[in-house]
Amino acid sequence: MIDVIEALRRIEKAAVVNQPRRVRIENAVGLRLWEDVISDTDSPPWHRSMMDGFAVISNDFALAEDDDKTVVSLDVVAEIGAGQTTAIILKEGQCVRIMTGAPMPSGADAVIPIERVVTGSSDGHVGERVSLHDPHFRFGQHVSQKASFFQAGQTVINSGVELEPVHIGLAAEVGASHVTVNAPPRVSIITTGNELISDCQIPKKGQIRNTNEPMLSAAVARCGAEPIPMGIARDYAESLRALMAQGLAADILLLSGGVSAGDYDLVPRTLEKMGVECIFHKVCLKPGKPIWFGVFQRPAASPTLVFGLPGNPVSALVCFELFVRPALGLVSGRSIDMKSVSHHRARLIGSIKGSGDRPVYHPCRLELSDGRLFVEALQWGGSADLLGLSHANGLLVVPKNCGDYQEGEVVEVIPLVSRFRHESE
Ligand code: AMP
Ligand code: MG
Repeated sequence: MIDVIEALRRIEKAAVVNQPRRVRIENAVGLRLWEDVISDTDSPPWHRSMMDGFAVISNDFALAEDDDKTVVSLDVVAEIGAGQTTAIILKEGQCVRIMTGAPMPSGADAVIPIERVVTGSSDGHVGERVSLHDPHFRFGQHVSQKASFFQAGQTVINSGVELEPVHIGLAAEVGASHVTVNAPPRVSIITTGNELISDCQIPKKGQIRNTNEPMLSAAVARCGAEPIPMGIARDYAESLRALMAQGLAADILLLSGGVSAGDYDLVPRTLEKMGVECIFHKVCLKPGKPIWFGVFQRPAASPTLVFGLPGNPVSALVCFELFVRPALGLVSGRSIDMKSVSHHRARLIGSIKGSGDRPVYHPCRLELSDGRLFVEALQWGGSADLLGLSHANGLLVVPKNCGDYQEGEVVEVIPLVSRFRHESE
């Protein structure tokens, strides 16, 4: 039986990056940028007032820089709000009443905040003379210089970046209303089992609610991919075939259940009969051993990656974390990080039982304290105990054939990406 690293290597070999797609920027968050975004504008586009106040010539305040008592009186020759401009060229002894965000008039190079109008003098509207007292005056103050952030023609977002809301704003600022991104993978999800009913039904004896379809859909969406829930296939070949035929049109097909050795576990042989090539079946781990992975060659498209996940919900989710998440990354143009499954170390709080002939991925709590990572194994009832997993923010890896671990020993852990990162921020 292959191990987790070998399974990942085979997935890496089989995966093909999706073709890029042009999308509106609002729809690009979470996706990987394919092509640099280049600015069509300077930022700021012109010298910009950063305050409500008066645009002035710094020279008129030369004395005020050394003397905190100096009052300067100026003629107000125009008013400009954000979105307005003026053709006036300021001369010494003059100022323009200006609002935050407005372009500085020609000749002006500093702004005196409105709060600096001397009490009892005019309010400083056009045609008035205003007296200003600014004891902290600095040459060129409260003006954001044209192109001081970046220039037209400059790359402002590099290809390869995973787009966050800040990048969406930046793209909008530079006129990139559409961006080219790695297309998010489309992922069909088929759950299998005669015992499954929908989550809005009351189960009769022997029936259980379909946990995996909403859970896997959510996990796929969390990765920035597009889930396509396809409903329940029953444990006979025609029912499976009908849904598989549609599911194989997606970039990735996830099936849950029917991959073990039971009489009704028809998923592997049905897939193979439909032309899906088996790349591996069973991986040395617990939970999740029965996982099946194969590739279907689509006409005129990249191959569909097919995962047969075990039906038990914890096994399905652990396999999603270990294998499907990296596969989604590969198809979206990210490389696989083998270290992510064997890199993090933490000091054990409490003890944990050793393992048998498979490594165990045990739900755990990870805690950062003084920059060091600590881990505690959680109470967990096994591969159907979702409540136990719901309290976890990581998986503690107990290697195969190892003895018990005691308090204080260093062990290998896998942070559950979104949960651990979220909590440790
Ligand atoms: P299987 O892999 O089909 O042998 O299923 C293993 C166990 O997982 C059985 O107890 C199933 O009832 C359960 N199971 C299978 N599919 C689901 C599902 N979609 N939601 C919740 N439990 C499931
Ligand atoms: Mg089943």
